[in-house]
Amino acid sequence: MSALGDVAAAILPPEAGGPDPERVASVARRMIDRMPAVSQAGLAAALVGLEAYAFARTGRRLGAGSPQRREALLADFARLGGTPALDTVKSIVLLAHGADAYAEEIATVGSRHEPSRPDGAMNLTPASEWPSTSRCDAIVIGSGAGGAFAARELARAGFDTVIVEEGERWTVDRIRSSHPLDRFASIYRDGGTTMAFGNPPIALPLGRAVGGTTVINSGTCYRPPAPVAKDWFEKHGLALANPELLGPRVADVEATIGVAPAPMEVLGRNGELSLEGAAALDWKSSPLRRNAPGCRGACQCAIGCPNNAKGGVHLNALPQACEAGARIVSGLHVTEVLVEGGRAVGVAARRSSGEVRISAPLVVVAAGAIPTPPLLRRSGLGRHPTLGRNLSIHPATGITASFEEEVVSWRGVMQSVGIEELHEREGILLEATASPPGMGAISAPGYGTHLLGRLDRAGNTATLGAMIADAPSGRVFGARSPIVAYRLAKADERRLATAVGAMARVMLAAGAKDVELGGGAPAVRDESEIEAAVERLDVRRLRLAAFHPTGTAAAGSNPSRHPVDPEGRLRGVDGVWVADGSVLPSCPGVNPQVSIMAVAAGVGEAAGGAP
Ligand SMILES: Cc1cc2nc3c(=O)[nH]c(=O)nc-3n(C[C@H](O)[C@H](O)[C@H](O)COP(=O)(O)OP(=O)(O)OC[C@H]3O[C@@H](n4cnc5c(N)ncnc54)[C@H](O)[C@@H]3O)c2cc1C
Repeated sequence: MSALGDVAAAILPPEAGGPDPERVASVARRMIDRMPAVSQAGLAAALVGLEAYAFARTGRRLGAGSPQRREALLADFARLGGTPALDTVKSIVLLAHGADAYAEEIATVGSRHEPSRPDGAMNLTPASEWPSTSRCDAIVIGSGAGGAFAARELARAGFDTVIVEEGERWTVDRIRSSHPLDRFASIYRDGGTTMAFGNPPIALPLGRAVGGTTVINSGTCYRPPAPVAKDWFEKHGLALANPELLGPRVADVEATIGVAPAPMEVLGRNGELSLEGAAALDWKSSPLRRNAPGCRGACQCAIGCPNNAKGGVHLNALPQACEAGARIVSGLHVTEVLVEGGRAVGVAARRSSGEVRISAPLVVVAAGAIPTPPLLRRSGLGRHPTLGRNLSIHPATGITASFEEEVVSWRGVMQSVGIEELHEREGILLEATASPPGMGAISAPGYGTHLLGRLDRAGNTATLGAMIADAPSGRVFGARSPIVAYRLAKADERRLATAVGAMARVMLAAGAKDVELGGGAPAVRDESEIEAAVERLDVRRLRLAAFHPTGTAAAGSNPSRHPVDPEGRLRGVDGVWVADGSVLPSCPGVNPQVSIMAVAAGVGEAAGGAP
């Protein structure tokens, strides 16, 4: 048996009803193959550590012996400080098992209806067919939320625009016919393993596809909150946040991507319970506004919508850009922005068969808040002292609540309901968020029979998430690949604990039997237990994730504080603009795609109108 199979057998013992460990290992390997070498090395070290520990303790491999023996070995290994290594392996095993166990249901649900709309019509060329040298008026690096809108404005202004995207195109047929784990491992950067390192480490997944992270995001659409936009405009001098310009751009974004409240008939029980809990507490809540007209509640947003219902930019802004004349190259990684005599002259890029050069006097960098700083550095444009700093990630955590009734959180809208009671006062936003079928198991606690019991009861479990508007506490290092460091601020730790308590209140008010808080706190069964449980919660042991990196090339009027000027020009060079999440000067405090799109449209307009 392989080392990965041994661990799978210990985490999910087949004797107690768990899956075939070698099957789990072979599915997991499809994901591991897509991880960067450094993550593969970390995983291999964790596996070797586990096997070595088992051998030192018992003289046998981890996979040998009874389920109880294996479970005890895992528990001891964790107690001796092995938790981070074990958690890494466990996440991969559970993701592979969950995705595989539900693959058929995912395929059936995903192909039950005709797609809500056809694939977007795009002028798209795979990198292998693109000439090795070419010329155009403007290049946009990255086809995500920011890049799509900036490119559309440039193309509409008459610029011969080429959008260069490292990821591939995911048509609705391709999504429907691919195994869920392959969707996950391919549409996410580095097989979905990107992290912010710190104490605690925080998962920071990023999309890589034609359409960027919008292909796998949850589809929630918040406008930039008025106080935040005011701060950007007045304190940071971000001209693009001028309310007279931002308001109409937000309205245009919403019309383009099709924003409307999630309809009650597809919301699903997971969202309904959050609404009921919030109503019982008299807390402000409502179905979220989403860009998903025609949503069927397949709960697969995070692995690509199988109905073309969620309006990622591959279904709207990119086709509109192409209609205005833009071209897209997919599968092409930009290695460098080329500069001569202080002016942009194009980009150098890499495909499997070698180098590509595209010449243009205007380059818009929209690679996302994490890849943009390294790309600028390796282009010799990383001199500004705050480039890569000022990173906010909008940290998120979640709780699970058990109900007597059947919930089946994955039947309905993936991210369905927002509870804003603590938003204005504390920067805490609660959102009812489920996972695609089987894939929520990734955060289930425990091992062995206990864990299998948990997975069996998944249908009676509801999930609720919370995000906190964080102080900029992170930094992106590196020039080749990004390395992200993040130190959770004390005030943000407290806010996370408050958020956990608030989520527990909502779920208990909705009738939950018990709520697992995580972070080493005991489960709660009654509102009176929450305060004491939250007191015992260790925020550093919570399972944290973040989905909204911003701020690493902040735009604003202060040349020593903002690497990018108020309209989106990178300082210190002519013809280079930035139009992605990195230009937002602070955490918007809400899901950021609409803010990024509106600001990027402004960058595109400014670049298109600039002499
Ligand atoms: C799981 C998940 C759920 C989310 N849910 C929501 C939500 O519900 N609502 C919301 O508002 N936000 C959500 N977000 C966040 C939102 O999608 C992002 O904030 C937004 O897409 C970021 O836009 P961007 O333009 O900065 O980068 P991206 O959309 O990430 O686009 C950047 C693109 O650049 C490409 N690229 C990078 N480097 C290069 C290179 N060197 N050469 C060529 N191409 C390159 C990347 O492959 C990528 O496609 C979610 C994010 C995740 C991960």
